[in-house]
Amino acid sequence: DELISQIAAGEVVERPASVVRELVDNALDAGASQITLRLLAGGVRLISVEDDGCGIVRSELPTALKRHATSKIASLSDLESVHTMGFRGEALAAICSIAEVSVLTRVEDAPESHGWLLDGRSGELQPTARNRGTTVEVRELFFATPARRKFLKTDATELAHCIEAVRRHALARPDVGFAIWHEGKLVAQWRAVASDHADPLRQRLADVLGEDFVTQAVAVDWPIDLPDDGSGQRLRVQGFAGVPDAARSRNDWQFAYVNGRYVRDKVITHAARSAYEDVLHGHRQPVYALFVSLDPTRVDVNVHPTKIEVRFRESREVHQAVRRAVESALAVPRS
Ligand code: ADP
Ligand code: MG
Repeated sequence: DELISQIAAGEVVERPASVVRELVDNALDAGASQITLRLLAGGVRLISVEDDGCGIVRSELPTALKRHATSKIASLSDLESVHTMGFRGEALAAICSIAEVSVLTRVEDAPESHGWLLDGRSGELQPTARNRGTTVEVRELFFATPARRKFLKTDATELAHCIEAVRRHALARPDVGFAIWHEGKLVAQWRAVASDHADPLRQRLADVLGEDFVTQAVAVDWPIDLPDDGSGQRLRVQGFAGVPDAARSRNDWQFAYVNGRYVRDKVITHAARSAYEDVLHGHRQPVYALFVSLDPTRVDVNVHPTKIEVRFRESREVHQAVRRAVESALAVPRS
């Protein structure tokens, strides 16, 4: 089982940023409103992710680190309509097989007046002070596989990838606060946008990508009906598309999400690019943050272990919706 976990780890964990992504997924699934990362040496020596989410009850704590232990799906039909970021129950087990993991957690109405610290290696449980929430610490990534460790880049590069992983989450969740510390220094912080804010996404985009991004961007909002859609949920494309001048153009400002999950998807990328070609005739580089929402049974997120790729049941319709959404936003005259 250890070997299977290590093979799974090879698919899921390429570098510290992969661990960051999985741990932040879990924190968001737990309903966290504040997530704090602490990193040492670009995440190789330490990745600590602290959240104020629901916590893990003591009885479930040891199994959380086991393979296929997930509290998120109870049946195969659940798998058709996953609403959580995680669902495979593989991430923590995989990470345990390639690093030293500990989990400190406490649930709201625990019978004890303290939390529990689980040492992943020994399986030992120890009473420890903690407010509600969970802190997962991952130390010495790839300690047992020096060959893999050699493929890592400099600490600065690995840190940049970790920040990028959090940035992708942060754009989708303006309601959650994020802070990243590296070697004891605060390197990024995005405060939770108040729930009564007029435009939380716009505010978060300004915080994360800079005022530059939002001042030259237009809002995208395009609902359509998919054929035979009995779910009552329409396909919707929302977000912002930018028209930066050449000096401010950034080719890494292309963020796409499906049901809140960051994806790299050819259908969306191609549709957005086509819209820019049609309206601006290629004079501007596409920059966007696009959020596609649709009935979860119309999209397969179980294509790849990292869940970064998806497969749409009606990819032509999705392509058309994204293209139309971006086109109509770009075509509106700007002052
Ligand atoms: P998955 O997210 O696919 O369920 P993971 O291996 O990432 O699998 O996590 C295993 C289980 O551990 C989760 O299903 C959840 O019950 C629990 N868990 C992990 N991280 C947290 C967290 N930060 N807060 C609460 N529960 C957590
Ligand atoms: Mg998970």
